Amino acid sequence: MVLTVGNPSVALLCSPGMGHLIPMLELGKCLMSNHGFDVTVFIVTTDSSTTHSQIIQQTSSNPKTTAALNIVVLPPVDVSSKLKPLNSSQFGARIKITMEESLQLLRSAILSMKLRPTALIVDLFGTDAFAMARDLHMLTYVFFTSSAWVLALAVHVPFMEKELLDRHVKLHEPLPIPGCKPVRFEDTLEPLLLKDEVPMEHEMFLQMGSNIRNADGILVNTWEDLETSVVQNLRSGIIKGKIYPVGPLVRGADPNRTKMDHHQVLSWLDQQPAESVIFVSFGSGGTMSEAQMEEIAYGLELSQHRFIWVVRPPHGDKTATNHGSFFKLENGKSTDSLLEKFLNKTHELGLVVPMWAPQSEILDHSSVGAFMTHCGWNSTLEAITNGVPMIAWPLYAEQRMNAAALTEELGVAVRVKNGGNKAEVVERNEIHRLIRRVMVEEGVCIKERVKELKHSAKMALSEGGSSFNSFHQLAKNLQWI
Ligand code: UDP
Repeated sequence: MVLTVGNPSVALLCSPGMGHLIPMLELGKCLMSNHGFDVTVFIVTTDSSTTHSQIIQQTSSNPKTTAALNIVVLPPVDVSSKLKPLNSSQFGARIKITMEESLQLLRSAILSMKLRPTALIVDLFGTDAFAMARDLHMLTYVFFTSSAWVLALAVHVPFMEKELLDRHVKLHEPLPIPGCKPVRFEDTLEPLLLKDEVPMEHEMFLQMGSNIRNADGILVNTWEDLETSVVQNLRSGIIKGKIYPVGPLVRGADPNRTKMDHHQVLSWLDQQPAESVIFVSFGSGGTMSEAQMEEIAYGLELSQHRFIWVVRPPHGDKTATNHGSFFKLENGKSTDSLLEKFLNKTHELGLVVPMWAPQSEILDHSSVGAFMTHCGWNSTLEAITNGVPMIAWPLYAEQRMNAAALTEELGVAVRVKNGGNKAEVVERNEIHRLIRRVMVEEGVCIKERVKELKHSAKMALSEGGSSFNSFHQLAKNLQWI
């Protein structure tokens, strides 16, 4: 073993998508500012939107950080011919192909660095870079940006008896995961079900699980007290390296950013009573059918609670690729007749925001009383760290598992009746009922529980807390190699 001198130096590799970019940048910031690491973040992107660039810009120039985060956006690669045979729902395969095609660029970029980083830390979609990292004598780490429960599923499935998986997929039996709550069929991940229809997604998921299992270490965006038994079980031998629960790493509200943006939503929130507003948003990519959006509109109106609703073009809409053409909102007016009527009837109650809202700042605002969310893990953690009760409305990926944990284990959310099955429209009365439950009937209990979790999250990150100690341990392990 050798003790390296100076700060531990790491390279982070971030796959396309806001849900990966945001936590990876937070990890970079935390490693650099709180734990003295030298950090370079490599970003693979297919997204040149203003929001994407703004998030990179705001993070790298965060006034709280003493030095700037070194961010390298890798030049986009042309993967159009390779993506052509895939349909749009195969988003996992699309990201993985883009990552594979970017590996050569990453290798050249690392080779051109004056000092070779000790370790490469990748997200779920970056594990194919491990072979290159080992070749360059770097240690291999994963930053798993979802829960430890989902991580346990990912690392166990590739080595599971075939019969267990078959019974889950064909007979809809719960999938047992050692040391964890079994995964119900209704909450399972799509790649497990698509073995025959889309073998590529299935194989890819298994490959990722094996790669993660063989990494030198796994950082996971959770904390010991949130998922105690799952983390303990992961430590009992299934994975090769150490596990470091380092969360919750979330993009916090930034008063400077808010002042700069003067976002209309935040000025509006300033005028509303405490905990009176329900924030409705389905992540960076979640879309609904037109029929479902209509029910949400009526449900909000029926509830008569104040709201902020982030809208996107409905799926199936021909204009969906042309961002902003559906629900065009100019000077508070819309070109869509349903939305126009809705806005006219509810303009004193709430706001509709097209495409993107400053979610961290909204959830941090004292006027927000509940969050109707698709249960992406970042959104989930942002709600918990701000003490905001949730209505869990999962749409895809691991969101149904997150919704199950939030409602059945943690008691900080109520869940839509269809559990997030897109084929069934959730009706307006059900939406009204859910809002009532979380804002009125069960509000006090849920709020108490989520505030306890908020406190526990804060403790984990503060000096001497479990996540703080994980970072400390990681730094020590990276210096003794
Ligand atoms: N987000 C935001 N404004 C929006 C939509 C999303 O700031 O209008 C941010 C949100 O705060 C979170 C991330 O985008 O940090 C979404 O990540 P999540 O894991 O919740 O869901 P995904 O988009 O990956 O499905």
